[in-house]
Amino acid sequence: MSEHLKFENIYCVGRNFEGHTKELGNKVPISPLIFQKSNSAVIVKETIEIPKNKTIEHELEIVLLIGKDGVPKNQEEAHTFIAGFSIGLDLTDRSLQAELKKKGLPWFSSKSFKGSAVIDTNFRHECPHEFYLMVNQKIRQEGNLKDMIFSFEDIILHLSKTIDFKKGDIIFTGTPEGVGALESGDQIEMGFNNYPPKKLVVI
Ligand code: ZN
Repeated sequence: MSEHLKFENIYCVGRNFEGHTKELGNKVPISPLIFQKSNSAVIVKETIEIPKNKTIEHELEIVLLIGKDGVPKNQEEAHTFIAGFSIGLDLTDRSLQAELKKKGLPWFSSKSFKGSAVIDTNFRHECPHEFYLMVNQKIRQEGNLKDMIFSFEDIILHLSKTIDFKKGDIIFTGTPEGVGALESGDQIEMGFNNYPPKKLVVI
C-alpha cells in the first residue's frame, strides 16, 4: 500500500493486554479505553524523530485500517469494516502521561506529539496472531492476539456507539507488556512473526 495513503481519524485503545495494564499499575478495564491521536502525528517513513530532552516509550500494537464509512450493528458486520492489518508504534511521553493521569486530564499531549503514530503501511488481508518488536537486535515486546482483552470486533462496536467510521480511519489496538524508552540511534524492527518486518531507525 502506498505511502501516500491518506489516513482519517486515529483511534487508540489503552489497556487491552493484562500484562501491560499491570506493568503500569492500572486495573483491567470493563470496556475499551479509547483515546485519539491527530492524523498529522502519523509517520510512515523509515525514521522516527523523537522530541529532544524527553523520554519517549514505544508501544507495539496491531493497527487496523477501516475500509468503509458507517456504523456496524453486530460482530459479523464489524469484521467487514476491517480493510487491513498492520503493525505500529503508539509512541508515548510517559512522564507527561503520568502527570496528566494524576491530574485527571486527557492524555492528548502525551500521545499526539509530532511523529507519535508510527505505522507500517504494508496492510495485510489476514491478521497473523503473533507480533514482535526488536530494538538493537533484542526482543522488547511480543504479543499474541489470544491475550487481547477486547477483540478487534469488540473495539469497533464500542467505538460505533460514539462515532461513525470513515474509510481510512486507523485503530491502534493496544500494547502487550514490555514498553520502554527509545533512544537516538536505536535500530528498530517490528512485524508479524514469519512475515517481512518493517525496519526503522530513531534519529
Ligand atoms: Zn498504546
